[in-house]
Amino acid sequence: MTTPADIFAQAQALSGQLTAWRRDIHAHPELSFQEQRTASLVADELAALGIEVQTGVGKTGVVGYLGEGGPVVAIRGDMDALPIDEENDVPYRSQTPGVMHACGHDAHTAILLGVARLLAAMPDRPAGQIRFLFQPSEEARDNENKSGATRMIEDKALAGVNAVLALHVASDIAAKRISITDGYASANEDSFEVWLRGTGGHGAFPHQTVDPVFILAQVLNTIQGIRARRIDPTKAAALSIGMILAGAASNVIPSQVYLAGTMRSFEDDVRQQLRDELAKALEISRVLGGDFELKLHPGYPSMYNDPDVAHLLRVSTRDLVGAHALIDPEPMMGAEDFSYMTRQAPGAMFMLGAKKDAVNRPHHTPIFDIDESALPLGAAVLVDATCRLLRQKAV
Ligand SMILES: [Zn+2]
Ligand SMILES: [Zn+2]
Repeated sequence: MTTPADIFAQAQALSGQLTAWRRDIHAHPELSFQEQRTASLVADELAALGIEVQTGVGKTGVVGYLGEGGPVVAIRGDMDALPIDEENDVPYRSQTPGVMHACGHDAHTAILLGVARLLAAMPDRPAGQIRFLFQPSEEARDNENKSGATRMIEDKALAGVNAVLALHVASDIAAKRISITDGYASANEDSFEVWLRGTGGHGAFPHQTVDPVFILAQVLNTIQGIRARRIDPTKAAALSIGMILAGAASNVIPSQVYLAGTMRSFEDDVRQQLRDELAKALEISRVLGGDFELKLHPGYPSMYNDPDVAHLLRVSTRDLVGAHALIDPEPMMGAEDFSYMTRQAPGAMFMLGAKKDAVNRPHHTPIFDIDESALPLGAAVLVDATCRLLRQKAV
């Protein structure tokens, strides 16, 4: 029987290929829902392994089907890059000006190709089907406000799936360390825009105006009071104003103030409360003689890591490389569209440490980069956990 030690050795042996795939994809990044080259590379590699391939899933996504019948375990890797100009002077630097794999989705795609190769070659692979979900557009939503995960779900990529797995590389976690959160692992995200309206006028005659800047001052206090005074203190929530625009001259009271911000939470009822309380806080503008317009832009829902699946990922990591590789997880308020998939079937995403060097290389920056020696471990954990899930769900 293939043991975890065998799986780890096979993944290590694939290390050169994983790096080659990652560098090829890194050098040829494609924006959300434009992943044509990446998708055809993926489709060719899967077909060469004898895996049944479906293209054009969720617009530019690719699904590979290995094995038949139940149970069904899906593994997701996202493929899109970001509108960022790469500053790294490396041989595999982006060849497309203004586009860069600055979140590590190139690594996710390479790792998932490696997982497909390892599972396709496994002589005693457990019964059932493994579904490889190469997802487009995690970073952006289309004109109907839908991202790649939603589009793939609409195209039935998750139909009949018993469990779903994913990983995300982390440029701030030591290479080859793994972090797995139980329960909420990313946040509900809503952004919003507000126009506070008054009546402008001369700065010397404020009594003849309804000053929206004065209204703003009251509104800001009230908005910041939502987290402090309205939300249950034991529940996670964040509300931040990132933009305020008002006025054009020192002696002119403007007629309008624009502000924009973001709201984060884990629980869905807290998400709804934040929306309601924001609208209530803005009512102050009416009491003060002005008015407001609120535009809410709903983002991704929170991601819930199923504790049983998360536990299994930890067991896989421990059996592959030892418990020392597991670090204490830190839930965070970022957003991730894998959350739509974990609302279709029990699933979990783990963080794969890939800190490259002493330089701080945050995700979504022009100097983002990873330690490629972490790639085999990511593939090994996904292969091992998939086999365990297939055996477990078969019972
Ligand atoms: Zn990202
Ligand atoms: Zn990402």
